[in-house]
Amino acid sequence: MKVIAYSTKVYDKSYLIDAAAGKHEFVFTDKRLTVDTIPLAVGCEAVTLFTSDNASMEVLKKLSEMGIKYVALRSVGHDHADLVTGSRLGMRIANVPEYSPYSVAEHAVAMLMAVNRKLVESQLLMQLHDFRLNTLTGFDVHGKTVGIVGTGKVGIAFAKIMFGFGAIVLAADPVYNPIGEGLGIKYVSLHELITRSDIISIHCPLTESTKNLFSKPQFASMKKGSVLINTSRGGILNTKDLLEAIEAGVIGAVCLDVYDKEKGLFFEDHRNSLLVDSNFSRLKSFNNVLVTGHQAFLTHEALTGIAETTICNLDFWAKDLESPNELYAQPVGQPYYEPVE
Ligand code: NAD
Repeated sequence: MKVIAYSTKVYDKSYLIDAAAGKHEFVFTDKRLTVDTIPLAVGCEAVTLFTSDNASMEVLKKLSEMGIKYVALRSVGHDHADLVTGSRLGMRIANVPEYSPYSVAEHAVAMLMAVNRKLVESQLLMQLHDFRLNTLTGFDVHGKTVGIVGTGKVGIAFAKIMFGFGAIVLAADPVYNPIGEGLGIKYVSLHELITRSDIISIHCPLTESTKNLFSKPQFASMKKGSVLINTSRGGILNTKDLLEAIEAGVIGAVCLDVYDKEKGLFFEDHRNSLLVDSNFSRLKSFNNVLVTGHQAFLTHEALTGIAETTICNLDFWAKDLESPNELYAQPVGQPYYEPVE
């Protein structure tokens, strides 16, 4: 099958080539799929996409008109693909439902410990030969209350690490996970989680019901000085409200691997261009905010898993079979917790 792989970079292309083992004819491009780059897919039957690509209604319609039947997402999250339009057009869309959840959970922990123990500042001071410790006091995670929003694969992996630190772990999730309770997680409402946690880590998908899940009322209910981590999707936090909460001194520190306007910004070299996103510039300006550019997945094990499952999806389709990872448009579920007014 002839496949165009959009948004492939130096760090993931070789994994796809190795996993494919010559089975498919690949066209690689580091360009994102947008309306403008659709023509690159001429002559292909399938596209494979990453989170920065845009599989919107407009784009899918044009791809379908060109004969594209298959869309293999190289991600767990599928908020960038219009599943309703895809199924109406008879396209098959599949994701990678699981790959090393440890990659994301461990990155969340790395960010937590970096802001807590002031590692970035410490490194800068070290380079200046300033060996004073005056501004570097952190806190023990041991004995703290950690709230996990979403106890799927990544949330559970994060919880296990937090138990290793000796933390008390709370969670909010509309779907009760018995593995979580078996580990000692206490399920509570989102409101209780927010008001009780010293550290909050977000691990739910971006859907209609989780968009802006954290806005002004949620930020206002957080414990003063608490740490907020988001390695999931930027749209789950309302950035404008987050900026106000940081400025008001409510939140102690923020760790973000994702940003709601990251498409076209992350994964690209913008060194010679002006960053016109003032919210992003403000976020970067705070010394208690740590931002990484959607790199939580970036481990050897995760890249291997993503490539292998992507090729597996393409293999099924090349034989005209249904892949077990195909996605179907589903009605949006309502979270069980009471919204915070
Ligand atoms: P998963 O599907 O295993 O788990 C998601 C969990 O969130 C489920 O238990 C689900 O019930 C829960 N959930 C859904 N709506 C919720 C709500 N309103 N409140 C609380 N919980 C809710 O997914 P996963 O593999 O654990 O991945 C989680 C997310 O991490 C993905 O959706 C993706 O957005 C993100 N992710 C980010 C990166 C990265 O590099 N930064 C990499 C992989 C995944």
